[in-house]
Amino acid sequence: MSTHGNRTARRRWRAVATAATATALVAVPLTLASTAATAAEAHVDNPYAGAKQYVNPTWAATVESAATRAGDPTLAAQMRTVAKQPTAVWMDRISAITGNADGNGLKFHLDEALKQKSGSQPLVFNLVIYNLPGRDCFALASNGELPATAAGLTRYQTEYIDPIVDLLSDPKYQDLRIAATIEPDSLPNLVTNISEQACQQSAPYYREGVKYALDELKTLPNVYTYLDAAHSGWLGWDSNSGPTAKLFAEVAKSTKKGFASIDGFVTNTANSTPLAEPFLPNPNLQVGSAQVRSAKFYEWNPDFGEHAWTAQLHRLLVAEGFPASTGMLIDTSRNGWGGPDRPTKVSTSTNVDTYVNESRIDRRNHRGAWCNPLGAGIGELPRATPADAPADSYLDAYVWIKPPGESDGASKEIPNDQGKSFDRMCDPTYVAPKLSNLPTGATPDAPLAGQWFEAQFKTLVKNAYPVIPADGTTPTPTPTPTPTVTPTPTPTPTPTVTPTPTPTPTVTPTPTPTVTPTPTPTPTQNPGGTCSVSYTASSWNSGFTASVRVKNTGTTALSGWTLRFAFANGQTVQQGWSATWAQSGSTVTATNAAWNGALAPGASVDIGFNGSHSGTNTAPTSFTLNGTTCQVG
Ligand code: BGC
Repeated sequence: MSTHGNRTARRRWRAVATAATATALVAVPLTLASTAATAAEAHVDNPYAGAKQYVNPTWAATVESAATRAGDPTLAAQMRTVAKQPTAVWMDRISAITGNADGNGLKFHLDEALKQKSGSQPLVFNLVIYNLPGRDCFALASNGELPATAAGLTRYQTEYIDPIVDLLSDPKYQDLRIAATIEPDSLPNLVTNISEQACQQSAPYYREGVKYALDELKTLPNVYTYLDAAHSGWLGWDSNSGPTAKLFAEVAKSTKKGFASIDGFVTNTANSTPLAEPFLPNPNLQVGSAQVRSAKFYEWNPDFGEHAWTAQLHRLLVAEGFPASTGMLIDTSRNGWGGPDRPTKVSTSTNVDTYVNESRIDRRNHRGAWCNPLGAGIGELPRATPADAPADSYLDAYVWIKPPGESDGASKEIPNDQGKSFDRMCDPTYVAPKLSNLPTGATPDAPLAGQWFEAQFKTLVKNAYPVIPADGTTPTPTPTPTPTVTPTPTPTPTPTVTPTPTPTPTVTPTPTPTVTPTPTPTPTQNPGGTCSVSYTASSWNSGFTASVRVKNTGTTALSGWTLRFAFANGQTVQQGWSATWAQSGSTVTATNAAWNGALAPGASVDIGFNGSHSGTNTAPTSFTLNGTTCQVG
């Protein structure tokens, strides 16, 4: 394929589009006005509204052939309904653009999409951009072909993004709405796994690569960009969600069009986190003497599902400067959790862990279990502006980004030329430290990531929730009960141990809450209080992540606190969590957040930040709490 030739085509279309815009603005002869009528439609707020979505005929044929082998006629008919659903087309390596042994190329799919577009109804084509240098830095199953080096980035730009944009810019595709999911797992890994060497190495290329993809894709008015935003079980904690929104804002601001280069965010890509837990609607509910969110399964994470996560993320993004029109997508291809093991009622146990384990529909051992989870089912069928979703989630649509039936990773070593490695999270015999030493719960005998995995597909269809209608009937969306989540007014401990996610994944925080909850904060300030501080940091080239534990060693309860310390080597705080952070010269100030100001005698609070340094990074000194010098140790 000649990149040069296609580039010319791209320029040609831009010229046409400009001429059309100009004609719309001035009084023009009729002939020119009709040229304007054939120009691409204007960019809309929600591309899914009123639109159909592209059904991948290659994937549909694979599903159809599974139906012929299903045995059970009801299951076969359900599979035929699944075959009619839209799924995303993944550009998971350079050769996927022209087509390879695993599938047809992008041009084939775009031409098929044109055939599926009937009349004036818009058609959304879900495309996944997934080939960053150093891909999947915290896991192995979807490692990619490009190294995390400057040369890898150049190849990403010139051999991957450019040819994709060249193809998309062919004027004949100008009326397709291209919804691009941008680089699953990449930026979220920089939030939670930056202490890992591979993620440190990848970090600059993830940022640069995503920026380049956005800049180039947004030269086309019919492209809609959705950045991957992991899922609630990965980023829901306040200590992760705040830094995530900040990182997204930083990346947006680095692009040519700023916030306008991002149309929205997509969560739960290839994961199986439910939309909500119908029997656990209130994370703060007290069971026995504990809050539901304190159960081992939730590890204090306040977001039990993707409705809560999209709402929280949207709120934080707007606070960072994103427009309120920023739309959210949720991948519901595998988060249904129906089938025989789905609970049907709320537990009556007074033990919080038993209560949660008996009530939750998410049957995984751990929310960090990401690889081919056994027992998962297909979730809600793709559709625009789902009525069951809370308004504050700002959902554009439920989508199927991961095509059901495609593996997440091999359960044993399988040689391949795609750069994919063996990740033991996909091995059902493995007891994983990242999952609080629980078995992975992965489906056995899985092929390489992306390959057809029929045994898993069967379970996904059987365990679908809502139940998949048999082919021939009209699917009726079943609204999931929408829990009313009570906001968190009480100062609840938030674990500041950064939960370490996994690939499509999540990881294992094992946050031991360190704040002793003080239900009624004593309104006494204690300027003379005594304190101790422990400070730890992990550094890399020019960055570091610091954790600070502040303890009230005095005898009076604090109802608010301000911590100060001084850096010795010109370090700067980039983004902090669990406090409001400020820096003036070498002095850093951290003031309590709304929820952790109460500090009883003997209680401590964990806060932290990401910083940058220029070589030397000694621990700061002169710690004071409310003006009193703290003991360090
Ligand atoms: C794989 C890709 C594949 C995608 C969709 C990812 O886990 O790494 O190769 O295209 O899933 O199945």
